[in-house]
Amino acid sequence: MNNTADVVVIGAGVIGCSVAYEFARAGRSVIVVDRASGAGQGSTGASSAVVRFNYSTFTGVAAAWESRQAWEAWEEHLGGTDEGSLAKFHRTGGIVLDVEGMDIQGSCRLFDDVGVPYERWTATDIRHRFPSIDPARYFPPKPVDSEEFWDAADGEIGATWTPDAGFIDDASFAAHNLLAAAQRHGADFRFGQTVVAIDTEQGRVTGIRTSKGDSISCDVLINVAGPHSAVINELAGVLDDFRIRTRPLRQEVHELPGDGNEYPLVADLDLGIYFRRTPAGNLLVGGAEPECDPLEWLGDPDDFNPRATRDGYEAQAYRAARRVPELNIPSAVRGIAGVYDVSSDWVPIYDRTNLDGYYVAIGTSGNQFKNAPVVGGFLRSIVETTEAGVDHDQTPAHHLLPRTGITVNLGDYSRLREPSTTAGNVMG
Ligand SMILES: Cc1cc2nc3c(=O)[nH]c(=O)nc-3n(C[C@H](O)[C@H](O)[C@H](O)COP(=O)(O)OP(=O)(O)OC[C@H]3O[C@@H](n4cnc5c(N)ncnc54)[C@H](O)[C@@H]3O)c2cc1C
Repeated sequence: MNNTADVVVIGAGVIGCSVAYEFARAGRSVIVVDRASGAGQGSTGASSAVVRFNYSTFTGVAAAWESRQAWEAWEEHLGGTDEGSLAKFHRTGGIVLDVEGMDIQGSCRLFDDVGVPYERWTATDIRHRFPSIDPARYFPPKPVDSEEFWDAADGEIGATWTPDAGFIDDASFAAHNLLAAAQRHGADFRFGQTVVAIDTEQGRVTGIRTSKGDSISCDVLINVAGPHSAVINELAGVLDDFRIRTRPLRQEVHELPGDGNEYPLVADLDLGIYFRRTPAGNLLVGGAEPECDPLEWLGDPDDFNPRATRDGYEAQAYRAARRVPELNIPSAVRGIAGVYDVSSDWVPIYDRTNLDGYYVAIGTSGNQFKNAPVVGGFLRSIVETTEAGVDHDQTPAHHLLPRTGITVNLGDYSRLREPSTTAGNVMG
């Protein structure tokens, strides 16, 4: 077994596999190490895989819009299939319901700048297009076990409609598709091995050591360990200059039976949830961190309840039923728990570090599955620029998004940035 590579990637989630694919197809030798038994078994495996375009920054919107084009041309993006099949993008359209404090004009301006098609809808438009969705205003979100939760609505709300939003039908399989594409270019995936140490020499990374006693040497090491990102950064000893930090946050997503209607993606900060339909016609409901619900921050990313709870189920199902009054809520809990790797401002960190040769693609904050098609290229641009001797901290790398022709400034993802002004939740 060859234990030397140009690039070692820690983590074979959807982002790690994308990073591996970009470097492998650029002709670099790549080894990916993951402690799990296959691709996409970390946060990727729990992902709702929603594809939407509302982000607080131009770069965020542009990355999501470019990625959406790549998901639609997934086979072309990968240069082939995965034993004859691939994960699939389902175009459902999406509505982001208006909510107090939301910068609607700013969002629309970003859509105009990037070229994302959208329409502004009134409550009447929502009722006309999706009669089962009630555009009533309940803001602010309330705990579902409080009396106020059942208060009557105090008005109606409009929304922003993006016809091109949707979802990917199998998040882990999408990661596997990227693994297969990377393997076609020679990438070597090693599962069931935990990275336990990072070797350095004179301020530069030289390799890793794994729980199986292997030493793998490399020129470039990339931390794509999802909710374990901070653990790996501590092994590398790089956190001193990070202005933006990452923390694991437990999250639940529940599935409710559909009622035969076709639902779009609904981002509903008025009630503190999002939902989308599944290929089978059910509804997947997740939380949007409403202030009234305590957040489940984890001290240790491995120490959490992996099962959906009744409290989590009722919070999300009852909120969904306020928005879709005809919904049937079974008594049995059906859901999953996953973990976000949340950054200080809910924007990811795609960056170099002060340890030469050591890079990070972390802090994906519950909102970067959709951007997997472009993040591999982001890392490649940052690594190639830095390794060519340019100081990415001072002169940030720029990256051309090939399908939309937009160039983005990768300094926006810097670990040294002032925290961006964002929604402060999964919307990013
Ligand atoms: C419940 C939930 C819903 C979400 N919904 C959406 C959504 O609708 N849309 C969207 O865009 N995004 C969504 N996300 C976010 C998205 O899924 C993540 O941003 C994305 O999957 C992160 O991928 P990753 O490859 O960075 O991390 P992960 O998928 O977590 O992969 C990290 C990998 O690193 C491995 N690892 C960790 N430590 C070590 C170690 N020491 N040694 C070796 N391997 C290690 C793990 O085993 C894991 O496989 C959601 C996330 C969750 C949890």
